[in-house]
Amino acid sequence: MVSFALSEEQQMLEAMTREFVANEVIPAAEHHDRDGLYPTEIAAKAFELGLMNITIADAYGGGDLGHMEEAIITEELAYGCAGMAISMTVNNLSSVPIQIGGTEEQKQKWLGMLTEEHCTASYCLSEPDAGSDAAGLRTTAVLQGDHYVINGTKAWVSGGAHSRFFTLFATTDPGSGYEGITCFVIPADAEGVEIGKKEDMMGQRASNTVFINFQDVKVPVENRIGDEGKGFQIAMKTFDRTRPGVAAAAVGIGRRALEESVRYAQERKAFGKPIARQQAIQFMLADMARDVEAARLLTYQSAWMIDQGTRNTKQCSMAKCFAGDMAMRVSTDAVQVFGGYGYSKEYPVEKLMRDAKVMQIYEGTNQIQRIIIARHLLEG
Ligand SMILES: Cc1cc2nc3c(=O)[nH]c(=O)nc-3n(C[C@H](O)[C@H](O)[C@H](O)COP(=O)(O)OP(=O)(O)OC[C@H]3O[C@@H](n4cnc5c(N)ncnc54)[C@H](O)[C@@H]3O)c2cc1C
Repeated sequence: MVSFALSEEQQMLEAMTREFVANEVIPAAEHHDRDGLYPTEIAAKAFELGLMNITIADAYGGGDLGHMEEAIITEELAYGCAGMAISMTVNNLSSVPIQIGGTEEQKQKWLGMLTEEHCTASYCLSEPDAGSDAAGLRTTAVLQGDHYVINGTKAWVSGGAHSRFFTLFATTDPGSGYEGITCFVIPADAEGVEIGKKEDMMGQRASNTVFINFQDVKVPVENRIGDEGKGFQIAMKTFDRTRPGVAAAAVGIGRRALEESVRYAQERKAFGKPIARQQAIQFMLADMARDVEAARLLTYQSAWMIDQGTRNTKQCSMAKCFAGDMAMRVSTDAVQVFGGYGYSKEYPVEKLMRDAKVMQIYEGTNQIQRIIIARHLLEG
């Protein structure tokens, strides 16, 4: 049976998140964006409402819900502010490697830490000289007795300065590429962890994106997630589970841009009538609505496939790529619908356009998504 309807429980979750976003996120979005403030207190409220850690199993204190529910929540949060949403969704990225590759003991410890009280963890894969080419990372982990010594710099760590621990990828066998990459959990208060410069970004400014230096950081062997050399696989499997969430955030940005544009087009008059009566504007709104809905369908499909236990690598790349491009196009059109006012910070659409851009960049650029899609088409 095919159904496009949300269940009663999913509708309730959507309504609850929408109310939270209207009351807590939207009123705070402008100044968090302007001042680059990380919304710790608002994220703590989201935690109390059960809007964080939702795919972590009940056994570890999580919401025990599916990726469909995660997509529903994430769209709403990003509708309010995609930058603030990072503080409430970052655990989705950092916890998945532990869910995929961790032992029972590691899950109890690290997932349990995320669900016991409000706190966040960050994902450290990218480096200053290794983004798309993640297998080219240079951070090293050297085994010395019962611990590893970590050295290197991680770049673009979302939420990094506010995290309690890091899920980090390092090479235990330099020179052997992706086959040498291993995953670790590093407590943020470990000696040798130094939070570096915070990026002054174009958009998603409330997300606290930092560089982090790891100098002679000692971590016990029991902090290794999975076997040596299995880290790259864990990182890629993680993206299969998290890219639908990125797509959902892009849908949130697109839907907000559309709704703001529909409202404004009916209010703004030119040549004696609302601009919404001009076919040129109507066609733009129609294309925006079409693309938001198409992106949501791809997003839901890729999330649903995870919940069905079906491999979704191609579909999640399609969803992330299409939704990211959609958010950029739709938010740019929203600025156009607003005319000169769209270019002013007094109206919300310029922020949507700035926030949209990175949806084409992080968790694998949209060029990389196209490479993945093409590889599946050509190589099966
Ligand atoms: C706001 C923000 C938050 C982020 N958060 C995190 C995080 O929490 N954790 C984390 O680990 N990383 C994070 N990242 C890093 C992000 O995933 C990388 O920026 C991204 O993967 C691209 O890598 P790069 O910036 O090194 O670009 P590069 O890899 O240098 O790419 C530059 C350009 O070249 C293109 N390109 C590269 N290789 C190819 C190719 N083979 N074919 C075609 N085109 C190619 C790219 O598409 C891009 O257009 C974040 C980035 C940003 C901006």
